[in-house]
Amino acid sequence: MNELPNSERLAAIQANVDKLNSCPRHEFNPAIPGIEQGVGAMFGQKIECKRCNGKADLLYVNAYIRGYEAAGKDGNDILPGWKPKELKRRFFKGDDE
Ligand SMILES: [Zn+2]
Repeated sequence: MNELPNSERLAAIQANVDKLNSCPRHEFNPAIPGIEQGVGAMFGQKIECKRCNGKADLLYVNAYIRGYEAAGKDGNDILPGWKPKELKRRFFKGDDE
């Protein structure tokens, strides 16, 4: 477990935030350890940006990608494999048949 004094933990957190904030565009590693057990198993875990080496949890990554896409870009630039090439509609019976 993490037994660092609070001051050192806060310094580490601030250093990570500084890395994330200084990055021009994150690119997260798609080989997420543990992802094979499902996204639910990833709750609370962090993944690392290949560019800035900042670590972010999946809620941050999700919001970052959605903002990137809202700006008209492709979320796969941030996390390859994020968006499947073909999305099948599931809500309206008959669309897939
Ligand atoms: Zn980054």
